[in-house]
Amino acid sequence: MRKIGLTLGLVLATAVAPQAAFGWGATGHRIISEVAMATLPAELPAFLRTPDAARMVGELGREGDRSKGAGRLHGAERDPGHYIDLYDDQTVFGGPKIDNLPPTREEFDTAMRAVGQSQYKAGYLYYELIEGWLQLRIDFAYWRVLAAAEAAATDPARKAEYAADRKLREMLIVRDLGYWSHFVADTTNPLHVSIHFNGWGNFPNPNNYTNSNTIHARFEGEFVRNNVTSKDLADAVKTIAVRDCACTIEQRTVQYILDSFKNVVPLYELENKGAFVPGNAAGKAFAIERTAAAVAELRDLVVFAWTSSATATVGYPIVNVADVMAGKVDPYVALFGAD
Ligand SMILES: [Zn+2]
Repeated sequence: MRKIGLTLGLVLATAVAPQAAFGWGATGHRIISEVAMATLPAELPAFLRTPDAARMVGELGREGDRSKGAGRLHGAERDPGHYIDLYDDQTVFGGPKIDNLPPTREEFDTAMRAVGQSQYKAGYLYYELIEGWLQLRIDFAYWRVLAAAEAAATDPARKAEYAADRKLREMLIVRDLGYWSHFVADTTNPLHVSIHFNGWGNFPNPNNYTNSNTIHARFEGEFVRNNVTSKDLADAVKTIAVRDCACTIEQRTVQYILDSFKNVVPLYELENKGAFVPGNAAGKAFAIERTAAAVAELRDLVVFAWTSSATATVGYPIVNVADVMAGKVDPYVALFGAD
C-alpha cells in the first residue's frame, strides 16, 4: 500500500500519520479536466461541448480524491487505482514489465503474487485507465444507438422513450468521463508511476536525489496550485495536436505511462536544483508541461472512445452500432429487454 506521509525509513514501509496522495491537488485536477473538455473537437456530441459540461467534468475530476475516506473497504479497493509503482527497469514492483501486462487485474494479481507481491501493493493505474476508457466507449455506443433510434422513430411514445434514455445516458457519460478523468490526470504526475513516489527511497542514489517525504505533496498540490492556471493549460494544449496512435487502448496506455515515467529523474533533478519553490521558472515550466500532457491525453482518449464506439456492440441480444445507425436494425428489444 502506498501512503504519502511520514514513513518509517524504508520506502516500502507502512506509513504513520498517512495523508492521501492527491495526484494534482484540487486545483490541478479541476483545471485539467475542465480545459480538456473545452478542447473537444466538433465531431463530439454537442451536449459534451458546453461550458456546463466542462464545469461538471472539471469538478468530477476531483471525485477520486474527494471520495477517499469513505470506509476501509472502499479505500482498499480504490486507492491502488491512483498509481502504479514502476521500478527503474520498467517492471511493475518487480513483477511483469509495463509493456507486458496481462489483460485483466485478476491475471495481473496472479503474476504479482508469483513474485511475492500483489496488485494492491503495486498499484493498478494501468487497469483503471483502460477500464474507464472501455466504460466511456460503451456509453458512447449506447448514446449513438439511442440518438439514431430517437431520430428514426415514428411512434411518439417510443420516440419519447428513446429520448428519455438518451438523456439518462448523457448524465452517465458526464459522470463516467468525469470520474475517470481523475486517473488520466494522475498519470502525468511522474510520482504516480514510480517506486520513487515520495523521495528516492532505499535504492542506489549516486546523484543524491532527495529523500524528503514532502516532495510528493509539495510538487503536486501547493506548487501546481500556485504556478499553473487554466490559461496556461489552454495555451499549452493548443500546441499539442490531437494524436491518433493507430494502436490499441492497451498499447496507448503503456505509451502514456512511460511518457510520464521518463520524467521521474528530471523531476528529482529539478528538486535538487530547488525548482519547486515560488517563482522558479524551470519548476513552473515542468509543472505546466506535465499537466498539459494530461489535458491533451484526456482530449485524445475521449476522441478515441468516440470514434471507436462507432464499431462497438450494445445490448442483448447484441446489436451492432453501425447497423442501427444505417437503419438496418430496430434496437428497441436490445435496449430495453425482451423479458
Ligand atoms: Zn488520484
